[in-house]
Amino acid sequence: MNSTVVTFPDGHVTGRSEIVGVVPVGARHGLVVAETPFHPLDHTWPDQPADLGTLGGLPVVDCVTGAWAEQEGLRLGPDIPVRRGADGWEWLVVHVTETPLPVGETVDLVVDAGHRAALSAGHTACHLAALALNAALAGHWRKEAARDGLGHPDFDQAAITSSRITPDGSVDVYRLGKSLRKKGFPGDDLDLDRVAADANERLAAWVAAGAPVRIDVPGRWLTARRTWHCALPEGEVSIPCGGTHVARTSELGSVTVALSREDATLTMRTTVTR
Ligand SMILES: [Zn+2]
Repeated sequence: MNSTVVTFPDGHVTGRSEIVGVVPVGARHGLVVAETPFHPLDHTWPDQPADLGTLGGLPVVDCVTGAWAEQEGLRLGPDIPVRRGADGWEWLVVHVTETPLPVGETVDLVVDAGHRAALSAGHTACHLAALALNAALAGHWRKEAARDGLGHPDFDQAAITSSRITPDGSVDVYRLGKSLRKKGFPGDDLDLDRVAADANERLAAWVAAGAPVRIDVPGRWLTARRTWHCALPEGEVSIPCGGTHVARTSELGSVTVALSREDATLTMRTTVTR
């Protein structure tokens, strides 16, 4: 099996392709095609959930990343022993179904477009929220730090431990504490209501601006190093990203964040109201 060609970075939700492999996934079946519009959960940074939909008329109940190497065989999701895109492996989109279909059959692939649109909105909002949080926290840094595309210290990159996209939202978890304090962010005098209000003001302006969003796609394979670009009024920003997005920030309607803190863990919940 060769690495799967993916069309979701261009916004596709339908396709037609040949089944090139069928593998067991527990008691279910993993169908691999040559080219797919389905976005699978990534195994290295599992932020955007799998697309749902149908393959050859069968419900796709899950969609996971697979990696195949001559000596190692096929590994799925968390069992993949190497990082995303590692050389020597073929990178596969594995569509999970309850019933198998034969290799060689050509099938229609149809992604649940409503679910995808909600995840795309959640993902774009997640990136914007991270940039707005960086800006709102800029005055709290005591040392020089790596900066984001808008020139603010990149709190998001320095402190994030997990990011989960949901339909029309996201939940980002940050680790405050010792290692961040050493980097120059003490974080003990944070007024979370003020920080959230500041971030929300920026987010409202960015949504109102209708800023264009695009994905730079350097290759057709699943693990090509794609980049999210957004032309905000303050300047164009880019973030490495394997997911799907809206085409304009105005499609988001409104984006708001809420912050909460428990000991050294800061959680940002982002909500889109389209
Ligand atoms: Zn992303």
